[in-house]
Amino acid sequence: MTLFLGTFLDTPDDPFAGGALRTVADGALLVLDGAIVERGAADALRSSHPQEEVVDLTGGLVLPGFVDTHVHFPQVRMIGALGMPLLEWLERSALPEEARLADAAYAGEVATELLTGLISAGTTTALVFGAHFPAAVDELFTRASEVGLRMTSGLVVSDRILRTDLLCSPQTAYDEGLALAKRWHGVGRNRYAVIPRFSLSCTEDLLDSCSALLDEVDGSWFTSHINENLAEVAAVCGLFEACEDYLTSYHRHRLVGTRSIFAHNVHATSAELELLGGLGAGIAHCPTSNAALGSGMFPLREHVQHGVQVALGSDVGAGTGFSLFKEGLQAYFFQQLLGERGLALTPPHLLHLATAAGARMLGLAEEVGDFSEGKQFDALWLRPGEGTPLDVGLRHAGGPGEALGKAFALGTTADVARVYIAGEPVAGAR
Ligand SMILES: [Zn+2]
Repeated sequence: MTLFLGTFLDTPDDPFAGGALRTVADGALLVLDGAIVERGAADALRSSHPQEEVVDLTGGLVLPGFVDTHVHFPQVRMIGALGMPLLEWLERSALPEEARLADAAYAGEVATELLTGLISAGTTTALVFGAHFPAAVDELFTRASEVGLRMTSGLVVSDRILRTDLLCSPQTAYDEGLALAKRWHGVGRNRYAVIPRFSLSCTEDLLDSCSALLDEVDGSWFTSHINENLAEVAAVCGLFEACEDYLTSYHRHRLVGTRSIFAHNVHATSAELELLGGLGAGIAHCPTSNAALGSGMFPLREHVQHGVQVALGSDVGAGTGFSLFKEGLQAYFFQQLLGERGLALTPPHLLHLATAAGARMLGLAEEVGDFSEGKQFDALWLRPGEGTPLDVGLRHAGGPGEALGKAFALGTTADVARVYIAGEPVAGAR
């Protein structure tokens, strides 16, 4: 067994439902075979387990490993292409790069870059939008398995609108998706997701084939985009016959349920929110992407009111990096700027959105998301360099809650000193 010492912060009780931040300063977690078997004060656990190996993570904060619910594998090299709205950004920046992943060797390099980006940011679980090419998706699963990331991903499919080298037929989408799922779904920490790019680039037949694949692969997940940009929403509603809103284009193909996660939903109608809440689907909120593309300000209050699950996503490469500290801060900014229409967020809300909310949305709440006994020890150690503003802030914080606010205001990937998945340190962190 291993005894991890540090200041542990987590949110097992949902702050959106009145739950408080849980903190153990000078605490300890006893970990056996990757799982937390006991937690308490450092002094007490050290004296009751004097023989166990000790890992000292004191100084700074220990947080549950981050859960990124929306990040694009092929877009690592596209981060920072600023100044364009969604559809222009896709055509000029993202899609030409996505096409380069037809070369499996190129895709392998990008997969390594993606995993380095995720792990070094403290992300230990991710729902990853894959590539349009099966060999590239194989590269991604292979490398994620080597690193040990808890990854849900799959082949991205489209059969209209996009450049032709990114298109496939409904039958090919099904066949190639099934073959990938057979190779990777449930293997190690990997799970398969069915991923039409967005209904704008998918015919009714393709969405039907996605639905069939979802039925065929037991325990598979579904993810796509929705209501990101007003021009996109108008185009979708123009393409689908008798389609009153964007969500209907998925729902009429049985693609909305408890295992469905849609990115963005910035421009949701109340009918859509009601349906999402009623069917238990989740939304990946990607604040830096929404700001960078000028997509809009996320109506968080309306989502919470309708009982729609929400968690954070980096949306690399429209998002401006892998850090969920930055996404949390931008989420906070948006709600402040929305004034009375916003939902004022506190540091525990931000931690919850970056950890337990994503774990729950991905059906992993029994395994990860907080430091309760029985959960896997997935964690990041936020330990800034001495004398940096974050270090100064943490040392002078009035308590763990105040320290958490400083972590989201000032924390960057460079401040993540170590990352653990199932109790094991992950290579790639600093
Ligand atoms: Zn996206």
